[in-house]
Amino acid sequence: MITRISADRMDSNTYLVTEGRSAVIIDAASGSAVLREVREKGLVPEFILLTHEHFDHIWDLEELRKEFSVPVAACRICSERIQDVKTNLSNIADILYYYKTGVVLEGRSKTFTCRPAEIVYEDRYSMEWRGHRFDFQRLPGHSPGSVVITLDGNSCFTGDYLIQGEEEITRLKGGSEEDYQSITRSVLEAIPEGTRIFPGHGDEYIKGQESIGNE
Ligand SMILES: [Zn+2]
Repeated sequence: MITRISADRMDSNTYLVTEGRSAVIIDAASGSAVLREVREKGLVPEFILLTHEHFDHIWDLEELRKEFSVPVAACRICSERIQDVKTNLSNIADILYYYKTGVVLEGRSKTFTCRPAEIVYEDRYSMEWRGHRFDFQRLPGHSPGSVVITLDGNSCFTGDYLIQGEEEITRLKGGSEEDYQSITRSVLEAIPEGTRIFPGHGDEYIKGQESIGNE
């Protein structure tokens, strides 16, 4: 089962993939909401997987690590970049937050870093988990450490790619339109229709059945 936990701040999603009581956490945007969900349902987190290094997806990573000592999986570049305020963009979180929401960021304007991931891979990685399979593929463009995580070949956690109603963003520091066009775009386009897409912001949807213009 896949549950979306949406943080109020910047509408960033954290996902919980569960099998029985076992859980995998994807991204760490909202620690308190994840903790609530885990406690309410009596879940046991076993891994945290990261889609990319940007602050709004890892805001509460260290908080979650304190609570659950589970391995974090990230590509090498993402693992390196979460350790630096300039590459996780927390040094400009205030500006990006204001730009996106029109509201001044309160209580969160401090820069932060995270410890490196425990499971570090280069461009591709696969992981079996309780009868499921996660496939990771690094797809630079939005950021150098962006990956798409596919679950059982039919559900994709796409981070800041394939967000409904948004164009792909490559203009942030570390982003590369060239990498996006030459490496990533064709891979995203080749995701089969019918795949469930779980983006880092906004609602999930089925590829090929995007809701158009009803906002
Ligand atoms: Zn991002």
